[in-house]
Amino acid sequence: MGTTTMRINLRWQKDQTPVQVVANPRAAKDGFTNCSLGNGQTFELNWRDSLKPDGSLSQCPACHCRELFSRRDFPQRTGLAIVAIGAIAAMVLWSLGQVIWGFAALGAVTLIDALIVPFVGRCLVCYRCRSEFRDLPIPRSHPGWDLATGEKYR
Ligand SMILES: [Zn+2]
Repeated sequence: MGTTTMRINLRWQKDQTPVQVVANPRAAKDGFTNCSLGNGQTFELNWRDSLKPDGSLSQCPACHCRELFSRRDFPQRTGLAIVAIGAIAAMVLWSLGQVIWGFAALGAVTLIDALIVPFVGRCLVCYRCRSEFRDLPIPRSHPGWDLATGEKYR
């Protein structure tokens, strides 16, 4: 699957400021990667029990939680900017009496948003520790955020 390194926003506890880690699970010695937490401490990622043959994850290598959800890895700010530009354009057009073009601007923004979805990567997030895993194969069927599951880990 091309990339061999995984980008991880590691949280070893919930609500912790994440530490950026780049790991190569397949090259990890004995199936473990030792990450530096930057404060002299290290943290062990367990690939041995977490990595599936296809490179995706069966559990969180940080906290061993078996439940992860997938989500669009879309920079929130970019999304907001696109929507804001569309809204401003629509208001300006409406103020000029261009009602149809105002709606067209909103429609265009919605369309842009929908069109880029397939090109936006997805990431896996651990329900328990909220570590985020990027640059790994994620099966299309992998479920997204589920409220009931999320409640279990609050
Ligand atoms: Zn976890």
